[in-house]
Amino acid sequence: MTEAFSSLRINPDRMLDSFTQLASIGATADGGVNRPTFSEAHLAARKWLKEEIERSGLEFHTDGAGNHSALLACAEDGSPSFLIGSHLDSVLNGGRFDGALGVIAALEVLKTVKENGIRLKVNVEAIDFTDEEGTLVGLLGSAALAGYLNQKDLSSPRGGRDNLLEGMVRAGLSDAGMLSAARPKDSLAGYLELHIEQGKRLERAGTDIGIVTAIVGIWSYRLSFIGRADHAGSTTMSDRLDASLGASAFTLAAREMVMKDFPSCVVNVGKMDFAPGAFNIVPANVELALEFRSPDEQEFDRLDAALLTLAEKEAARFGLELKTEFLGKHSPSVMSENVRSAFASSCEVLGLSHVPLSSGAGHDGQSLSELCPVGMIFVPSVDGYSHSPREFTKWEDCVNGANVLLQTVLQLAAG
Ligand SMILES: [Zn+2]
Repeated sequence: MTEAFSSLRINPDRMLDSFTQLASIGATADGGVNRPTFSEAHLAARKWLKEEIERSGLEFHTDGAGNHSALLACAEDGSPSFLIGSHLDSVLNGGRFDGALGVIAALEVLKTVKENGIRLKVNVEAIDFTDEEGTLVGLLGSAALAGYLNQKDLSSPRGGRDNLLEGMVRAGLSDAGMLSAARPKDSLAGYLELHIEQGKRLERAGTDIGIVTAIVGIWSYRLSFIGRADHAGSTTMSDRLDASLGASAFTLAAREMVMKDFPSCVVNVGKMDFAPGAFNIVPANVELALEFRSPDEQEFDRLDAALLTLAEKEAARFGLELKTEFLGKHSPSVMSENVRSAFASSCEVLGLSHVPLSSGAGHDGQSLSELCPVGMIFVPSVDGYSHSPREFTKWEDCVNGANVLLQTVLQLAAG
């Protein structure tokens, strides 16, 4: 059955036309888009998608979390849905490709399946998840659909409760609706997403498609290096308990350790707050925001222990006290083996080179990976830019990615 479909391709001109229309909504002068969740531009993009779905003769669906989707009923009534999608929201002054490409490609896959009158074992649904980027909550729509969202997520969101409430009012949504958007497990046959890489690995290797092995997990801590405030002029260098030294030495040593001993992981110190914080006072306290990411749960335990031991060592070296506060973790999401091998065989059908890689960024697929088989592919980002107006992917790479999605959906949904 699959072989009969292997010559099928998406329509690149039609996809480019849709992509260009969408990119004009919230467009910025420097070539990017500014569509934070529930901003006027984001709402306009959602409206455009709804109309585009209806113009294409697909069924429009929405849920209490504001996820918008196009359903192609190409299987028996009551069949589960194979989801394909991404997100229309952007970070502040983001790029045209992040999220938008995945939604447009998913829609193009449905249009192609529809115009060829193909019957499959499951329905196919193109979805735009609400607030993937985390302007308000982060992975909001996918967490709601997967049933993981809870009232606490809505009561103390990272974007602030007032902003969330105002946004929900603008979008016609409510807490109760958000918490009722969960879908039963047996209604989902799988989830596929095409995304730009947001890094340079594919471009450097000259590879067409990255097949994601896992979306990395993230652990975060607040570390405090505690010394003593003193006169910055009259205290000798050797008498100081300078908290900045422990914090700085730790930051440098953590970088070296991760590069040497944990090459698949990354570590980031994104913020340091000095107290009292003045030119003429030796810093008594430095609070540091530490985040680290790994594609492998076991490796996390080792990395966690190694970083905390290192922090203790650097604190002791400068006579400082260390306080650690664990702020939370997201576990890595492993992508489905079956979907990964379907992606690989689609690449081979299409004559595209492919390589396995992990995703250092979070994506909606991680919300769904416990519920149904999930897979993601990446296409090359020119110079690796993302979350920036400089974000760019060559159109032929976008088309390649959409064709891999199409071929993979046909393989997996044909049963
Ligand atoms: Zn994205």
